[in-house]
Amino acid sequence: MLVDLNKFKGGCSCLREHEISVKGIFIEDGALERLPELLKDFKKPAVICDENTYSAAGKRACALLGGCLAVVLSPENLHADEKAVAKAAGMLTDDVDILVAAGSGTIHDTTRYIAAERRISFVSVPTAASVDGFVSTVAAMTWHGFKKTLPAVAPEYVLADSGIFSKAPMRLTAAGVCDLLGKYTALADWKISAVVTGEYICERVCSLEEKALEEVSKCSASLAAGDKAAYEKLMYALILSGLAMQMVGNSRPASGAEHHLSHLWEMAVINPPLDAYHGEKVSVGLFACLEFYGKINRAIKDHKIEIKPYGGLDKDFIRGCFGNGSLYDDIIKENTPDPLEKISPDDLSGKLEEIGKILDALPEVSELQGIVKSVSGVFLPEHIGLCGDTMEKSIKAAPYVRNRLTLMRISKMIKF
Ligand SMILES: [Zn+2]
Ligand SMILES: [Zn+2]
Repeated sequence: MLVDLNKFKGGCSCLREHEISVKGIFIEDGALERLPELLKDFKKPAVICDENTYSAAGKRACALLGGCLAVVLSPENLHADEKAVAKAAGMLTDDVDILVAAGSGTIHDTTRYIAAERRISFVSVPTAASVDGFVSTVAAMTWHGFKKTLPAVAPEYVLADSGIFSKAPMRLTAAGVCDLLGKYTALADWKISAVVTGEYICERVCSLEEKALEEVSKCSASLAAGDKAAYEKLMYALILSGLAMQMVGNSRPASGAEHHLSHLWEMAVINPPLDAYHGEKVSVGLFACLEFYGKINRAIKDHKIEIKPYGGLDKDFIRGCFGNGSLYDDIIKENTPDPLEKISPDDLSGKLEEIGKILDALPEVSELQGIVKSVSGVFLPEHIGLCGDTMEKSIKAAPYVRNRLTLMRISKMIKF
């Protein structure tokens, strides 16, 4: 299936002209075989993969490109960080004119960062439907210990071969399902912020994402059975989430409080380092977020909510979580200006009912848990090695990792 990119481009009711930089997306059995034709004008392609994805797709990609240079990284301790970038970039020759990312999220982020640095383009070959970042224009990296979103490039083409990614380990697919389900709270946060501060929002992006979410929710059971059509739907929804980020120019449509929790845990400041995939952390973040938002919604409905005047950044608490070093400075810098400063308590008070309506539209916890269970995914803190009592502190600390308004951030102004 060739994805019709015109659905995402052009003028819109949000009054913006949406731009998509990716030239073509193929989601089908055998998509990888299109590689030689698409890259026929390039002289020196190179494939970046790890040892696992080399056998799944990298080897075939190299063969299709006449035995091109293959950068095969060791999957052990491989993260999208300055070390992976140095290692992969060091193995590339100067004359490489296009890259092929054959792998999942880490390989993609590493490749897209190197491609941007070298001002060349890359082709995405996802080997698992494990994250939504394949067509992202930014790279989610850990740079010297700090989780950062760095400027990068989107792929020129995506060749999502269902013959390859439907055979990925189920744990990776489950992580993709969970990364996708995280869009429920991400979109709710975006809508709430638009209501509270008048932040820009695009209804078209929201409804495109919601439709794709529904489709995947309906066919999640078929994933466990290995049904290629269900895998293609999941991949489409994940890619669409990436396109939504391209349309808007940032990760707002794909990342809210549930991702902030995941980023916080990745920083390992209030918890030990976790051995879990991005989507697994998002899943635990999503359910913590749903529970917390559910409490706020009940308090709104019962009129048991009080708006507190905002007292500014709680620097003692931030120091207690992030320490006194450069991480503390980074967090303060990230939170300047403080997104809560522009919210007046009176204004917020008048918006509570509308916030409640947005929260009413969130799916039931049991429904989402059913989907996660159907793909043998994780959803409880202990599933990823977090102590249950870390959660309360996490909910307080996570909003500080990004300068982005979420209901979790707004909750610092409410008592319930
Ligand atoms: Zn729009
Ligand atoms: Zn994500």
